[in-house]
Amino acid sequence: MTGRAAVFVGPGRPLEMREYPVPDPAPDALVVKVSLANICGSDLHFWRGNGPKIRTDIPQILGHEMVGVIHKLGREVVRDSAGQPLREGDRIAYAYFSPCGACAACLTGTPGCPNRYRNWLNVSADAPPHFHGAFGDYYYLRSRHWIFRTPEGLPDRSVSPVNCAMSEALYGLHQIGVVIGDAVVIQGAGGLGLYATAIAKEMGAGLVITLDRFADRLALAQQFGADRTLNVSETTPEERVEQVRAWTGGTGADVAAEFTGAPAAIDEGTRMLRFGGRYLWIGNINPGFRAEIDPGLMVRGSQGVRGVIVYEPWVIPRALDLIRRTQARYPFDRVISHVVPFGQINEAFALAAEGKAIRVALQM
Ligand SMILES: [Zn+2]
Ligand SMILES: [Zn+2]
Repeated sequence: MTGRAAVFVGPGRPLEMREYPVPDPAPDALVVKVSLANICGSDLHFWRGNGPKIRTDIPQILGHEMVGVIHKLGREVVRDSAGQPLREGDRIAYAYFSPCGACAACLTGTPGCPNRYRNWLNVSADAPPHFHGAFGDYYYLRSRHWIFRTPEGLPDRSVSPVNCAMSEALYGLHQIGVVIGDAVVIQGAGGLGLYATAIAKEMGAGLVITLDRFADRLALAQQFGADRTLNVSETTPEERVEQVRAWTGGTGADVAAEFTGAPAAIDEGTRMLRFGGRYLWIGNINPGFRAEIDPGLMVRGSQGVRGVIVYEPWVIPRALDLIRRTQARYPFDRVISHVVPFGQINEAFALAAEGKAIRVALQM
């Protein structure tokens, strides 16, 4: 039996659809039948060639944000990471990375182990078990990736962004801390910013102000709980800073969170914060893109900054449970704005690269 995989063969080049034999899982691994895989911002970075440098002399399978059902279980895999029994056919959400357990990050208990992609990036799709990334009919899930059975009754399009976008937003806001009544500025209303808007509300924020350059995203942000929105394409940075200060009684926001991926957003965010405010950085994931900031303002403002990459194991089940509990309140299924058949993955990448779609998903 074989399955399709969309293979990356170099920046800017079309992904090539190839067939590979579906592997049998090792005793401590399992094979997932992928049902929905999303194009995340970092997939676009790789594809454009401005993400972390990856080899172009071997075929690779990109993609990491996905959901699927267990196709075949290794004989030692009987429970998920929360202790629930696993059976073939169960739908699961899982981490797309696995900490190595033997580096400075792992030693100190910090997520973001530099070896976390060792079974994915720079691994040839020609090498068994072939299905190393999300953009395939199957995904080979090794031990050390946290696995969780998903709640019944949620559509795939609500569950598929959990292992990247939603967990990232949830963990980031947990790390920066949101206190009851906080005024929170969310920069960017793509997938992460929309989740962050709802999560900040659920964490007790008194006022959530969400910024984006597209009016339709801001309308959606309101459905995700934004109390106020600001359109970046219709205002100057000075006007936005002044508006945030006016909405917060002149003091500025308690928390700002950057999900735009634009280095220039950082300076604006620091100026929106109150004295002692906290700034979460998530969107600018690629080193080498510089921003101008006013460090004196941050020192005199006694501001805290925290960069966050990936998350801890407890985050996925909490994210799944949040969707289950609050799906009547927030339109989680609308974060996926477009669903495209997997065979048309190059059209899907072109659509995602335009930047207007919130998230494009591939239906396997
Ligand atoms: Zn991602
Ligand atoms: Zn490590």
